[in-house]
Amino acid sequence: MNKKNMKSKTTQLLILLTIVLQSCSKTNYLENSILLYGESDDKSLVRFNFKEQLNNLGHLAEPWATNTYNGKGSFWVDKNTFQKQDSLINSRGSVYVSKTDITNNMLLYLDYGDKELLPVTEELYIEKLINTARYTPITLLYHFKNNKKNIEFSSTDKQVIYTLNIDEYPIQLFINKSNNLVDKITYLSDDELYGDITTSFMYSSYIKSEFYIYPAHIKIEKINGKVIDIVEILTSTIDNQVKLLEKPKEKEVTKIKTIKYNDYIHFIDLEHTNDRVMVVELDDYILVAEAPINSKNGELIISEVKKIAPSKPIKYFVFGHHHPHYLGGLRAFVHKEATILCTDISKNYVEYIAEAPHTLTPDSLQLEKKKLKTQVITDSLVLGTNKKMEIYFIGNKSAHTKDYLIYYFPSDKLLFQDDLCWIPNEGAITKAGNRQLGLYNAIIELNLNVETIIQSWPVKNHKVKTVIPFTDLEKSILIEK
Ligand SMILES: [Zn+2]
Repeated sequence: MNKKNMKSKTTQLLILLTIVLQSCSKTNYLENSILLYGESDDKSLVRFNFKEQLNNLGHLAEPWATNTYNGKGSFWVDKNTFQKQDSLINSRGSVYVSKTDITNNMLLYLDYGDKELLPVTEELYIEKLINTARYTPITLLYHFKNNKKNIEFSSTDKQVIYTLNIDEYPIQLFINKSNNLVDKITYLSDDELYGDITTSFMYSSYIKSEFYIYPAHIKIEKINGKVIDIVEILTSTIDNQVKLLEKPKEKEVTKIKTIKYNDYIHFIDLEHTNDRVMVVELDDYILVAEAPINSKNGELIISEVKKIAPSKPIKYFVFGHHHPHYLGGLRAFVHKEATILCTDISKNYVEYIAEAPHTLTPDSLQLEKKKLKTQVITDSLVLGTNKKMEIYFIGNKSAHTKDYLIYYFPSDKLLFQDDLCWIPNEGAITKAGNRQLGLYNAIIELNLNVETIIQSWPVKNHKVKTVIPFTDLEKSILIEK
């Protein structure tokens, strides 16, 4: 693989061609860059060993807080192949392994902690193709080269920029004019919650080996820079093709079930997200509590509400806490001009989500803008005249989030809440954890006469009760250990 002579010859040739044919010039930097990174023969590829720090937004005490995972692994690359085997360790020491194999535009993927390969969809393929940039720019350099006809080219003082749309979303490759190396790759995508988001892969600390060059430090800015990951390449060597994975199978569904609890309370179970949504008919209007993950689920809930009470408007949408399983669908309710009930703590977050552009995958609110209406709950709010619903702010007492709300129906001695109570479906009741104790203390302090607690999450796990007699909660508090 001695490329030095070839490289300089190619460069000269390309410079000549540039002078003769203006139209060829736009891919020079790309071709030269590939030569530097090392154009391999068919038998051998380059193996890189790496370590990484991965940060993900989690269901934590406040917006934008992250969970950190430390990872390590190896990847193998050549012009047709990107293979990776790696493991991630979370803060509790659990280890998760993943394997990726993209060979000749075919993907095989084993997700972290899974035993079976994920069914491959177009979306997953694109995601994994783009994610190769996390470790090396090589795979995307080749992808751009193989799609030369569709590339757009622009130039600044220091960089040339190649833009290619992959499944409508633009990916940009920034090549440094002074050394032909990739400075940065960015892509724009749609996030169900945060709208249009840019992810950037920044390459630095380039290391030169005999046959190839590679960046040893890669900084990944996710969600417009709100979350940062770091990948460090530790060593590299020429290696043979490896066999990491065998072929997969397929599946997918959305399942919804509406249950009438009494003459004014209904529950909608969304099995595909594992959430229970509450619909309350109060006076001449409807209140919806909880809408998981995305606008699509919000719309799905709204269409179910129309079946329950065709003529009543949805006046309020409320979420028990700011995690995506409870507020993810709120944009659909903003579009229906419902007032979003929230706390002071989550108000800015609600505004961000409601106002975020969703131009790439437009939802109803993107297509038809509506003004956000919020109403802040300080300590409590009582709704309804005949039938009453009381909403209480318990915040930190939940031992889960700072913005926690619970809902109480005095005439039914019923309490609905998101995810605080964990009573086993079978066998003996176990000692209450902090969240469960927090819920119990809140009920006692507020002097609520509760007989039944209904929980929003989970609905598919048959190991825990989601309709909980208050006496069970009491028992769990009295257990010593
Ligand atoms: Zn939660």
